[in-house]
Amino acid sequence: MEVINDNGCSWIKDLTPRTNVKTLKSNEDCDWLIIGAGYTGLSAARKLSQLYPNQKIILVDAQLAGEGASSRNSGYLVDTTLNDGFTSNKELENYKKKADIYALGINAVKKFINEYQVDCDWNECGKYFASSKSEDKKILTNFSNTLSQLGYEHNLLFKNEIYKRLGTSFYNIALQTKGGILLHPGKLVRAMIDILPSNICLYENSHLLNWNKNKDTILCNFKNGNINTKKIIFATNGFLKSLGIKSNYNFPITLTASMTRSLTDEEFKLIKEPREWGILPVRPMGATIRTTKDRRILIRNTAEVHNPFKMSKSDLEKRSINQKIGIKKRFPQLPNDIIQSSWSGIVSRTRNSSQIFEKIDKNIFAAGCYNGSGIGVGTLFGEQIAIKASNENTKEIETIEARNKPNRLPPQPFLSLGVKSRLFYERLRARSEI
Ligand SMILES: Cc1cc2nc3c(=O)[nH]c(=O)nc-3n(C[C@H](O)[C@H](O)[C@H](O)COP(=O)(O)OP(=O)(O)OC[C@H]3O[C@@H](n4cnc5c(N)ncnc54)[C@H](O)[C@@H]3O)c2cc1C
Repeated sequence: MEVINDNGCSWIKDLTPRTNVKTLKSNEDCDWLIIGAGYTGLSAARKLSQLYPNQKIILVDAQLAGEGASSRNSGYLVDTTLNDGFTSNKELENYKKKADIYALGINAVKKFINEYQVDCDWNECGKYFASSKSEDKKILTNFSNTLSQLGYEHNLLFKNEIYKRLGTSFYNIALQTKGGILLHPGKLVRAMIDILPSNICLYENSHLLNWNKNKDTILCNFKNGNINTKKIIFATNGFLKSLGIKSNYNFPITLTASMTRSLTDEEFKLIKEPREWGILPVRPMGATIRTTKDRRILIRNTAEVHNPFKMSKSDLEKRSINQKIGIKKRFPQLPNDIIQSSWSGIVSRTRNSSQIFEKIDKNIFAAGCYNGSGIGVGTLFGEQIAIKASNENTKEIETIEARNKPNRLPPQPFLSLGVKSRLFYERLRARSEI
């Protein structure tokens, strides 16, 4: 499976193009090989370089480092996500386990940006779960009970207050959580690349074609060279399955997003000059929509099984038109053609939305499948999988391993049918929220 991305992502376009790019062109041996240089792989590499300053560590990516989903996401560093139900004590306990992992993820990112003085437009502005449907009050009231029991500060808001704060009268009800951070995902991942210590060798545009284990060595074949390694960490998230990693537990999903240009002073006044905000949908397939520090609006309102993963230009344009409609619905006062670019990104899912964090075989490790929480959890899992692969233990690993493990997927064709019909049903349920 080739990894090729469109070049439309606004977050990437905000950054200065990189110049120091090396590609694998010969055969190499190493102590540690990490496949995938997004938040997970970069964090694993950073941690390994601290643990083993004298060992040879290679990090490889099929495209430019960080330019996969890690640069292409919406930039919500979440402390909580909305899940239906959670009425029994057992469900509450499971929710707490999930939220404990999110909290560790936020700490891991915070620690990184403080240590390296990273500017990634960090804004601790909290977030809103919002819906245009008044009947969604029931879902938000249930969620509010869950948050109250776990001590998360939040409040319910209605149409007029939402309009005052966010400049849109589209939503009838919202639950605001105090926790949650908005950031510039491209700046964050670029910082992780820029600070890679000199004992990490980074090869980009170098696609792992296949791999196998021979006694105590793992042999990895790339287009222009091979790498033999003692230990390997797979950090390819949406591409775990295509590399044969936990294939019966995860599957890829393609998401698309669009970003407007910066609003002019007049346009900004028309939407009530709000502070930066981020909305997540109450219904799973509804739109996530946020503003940025420099007055742009980002919208993501698709999640689909797309084969090939990468969108063709015309497929992307179709989604971009839907996103233009999504912005117009919320901000009819703004001009029609303010979307500046649209892009897609690949993530991975498991059946029960749980993450992969494990030893696959002797000296072979994998981390991934974060649903909508990969910024924090990917950073955390990258660091901690490096520690686990070193046969060490931490409190963080104990918290991660206390979660429910991913459930096995049904076999094909039931898997495809199941995923497609579930997505179709969720899309139908959320059609007013797209
Ligand atoms: C549109 C969109 C919106 C999102 N919004 C949010 C959000 O608001 N908040 C949040 O927390 N998460 C969000 N996510 C999810 C988040 O981006 C991911 O969970 C996160 O980036 C995962 O990081 P990663 O390092 O594990 O994977 P990636 O960033 O996907 O990195 C994996 C890397 O592996 C490389 N690779 C794959 N196959 C190979 C191969 N064979 N050989 C070599 N390299 C390979 C890829 O090129 C890629 O760079 C969103 C994702 C998308 C696409």
